[in-house]
Amino acid sequence: MKTMWHVGRVEKIETITDALKMFYIKIDSDEPFDFKSGQFVTLDLPVSEKRQQRWKSYSIANNPNEDNIIELCLSLYPDGLGSRYLFEVVTIGTEIKLKGPDGGFVLPEVLDKELIFLCTGTGVVPFRSMIQNVFQNHIPFKKIHLIYGTKTESDILFLDEFEKYALQSQDFKFDICLTKAYHPKHHHGRIHDVYLDKYKEYEEDRVFYLCGWSQMIDEAVLHLFKELGYLRSQIVYELYG
Ligand SMILES: Cc1cc2nc3c(=O)[nH]c(=O)nc-3n(C[C@H](O)[C@H](O)[C@H](O)COP(=O)(O)OP(=O)(O)OC[C@H]3O[C@@H](n4cnc5c(N)ncnc54)[C@H](O)[C@@H]3O)c2cc1C
Repeated sequence: MKTMWHVGRVEKIETITDALKMFYIKIDSDEPFDFKSGQFVTLDLPVSEKRQQRWKSYSIANNPNEDNIIELCLSLYPDGLGSRYLFEVVTIGTEIKLKGPDGGFVLPEVLDKELIFLCTGTGVVPFRSMIQNVFQNHIPFKKIHLIYGTKTESDILFLDEFEKYALQSQDFKFDICLTKAYHPKHHHGRIHDVYLDKYKEYEEDRVFYLCGWSQMIDEAVLHLFKELGYLRSQIVYELYG
């Protein structure tokens, strides 16, 4: 199938910390930019001649909307070609070539199983879109539990929203694990301790969704599969690299 490229214009940039930014990008098209929560886009950034270095994928953080705006949330890697370009060069009005939406990291049609979302850092991004979708569109669900690891309190993304949704439904809850800080409301340490304790009793109506970089995903898959006895079909993941 022919790759569909679009032009997006940066409408707004929000600085969350020195190393975390939200980019609001309007897709220039008369057609609605339709996507499913959990999917990603690939940006073609003018940072190199090599396609592998130019093309960078980012999960979409929001839901499809009439304004054709997608929200991307990025971490800065000090030696990263793409993220440095986005942090240091891109400003409001910058045009970005992008393709997508792509990816099969999406929720099933019917949410009749317990869904456990495991993520670290910007791995929370596709889950924000999924959770927003469920609440904004009043989609019935059995249970959603987000277990989200990050370094310090200032790095926690979308906290207000997660708190709001947890008040709206007892079936949605979230745990935050801080690796480099202590906070009375959050866990200290990595995400693995939380699900290893909470979900040690095997349950067939339970699916784990994992998103982030390879080290966390490899560890979580090993724990769930080897230690807790969950089946491959109960583990779905999106690997950032
Ligand atoms: C489907 C998909 C969705 C993604 N969504 C997001 C997103 O929503 N937000 C986001 O910030 N990024 C996301 N990424 C990662 C993103 O595509 C880039 O890889 C990231 O921005 C780094 O690119 P760069 O050009 O800045 O770094 P490069 O020039 O490619 O350099 C690599 C940098 O990445 C870091 N890195 C490489 N491997 C690892 C690793 N295993 N663990 C930790 N860090 C590593 C290193 O610090 C290194 O500096 C996603 C990736 C995929 C495949």
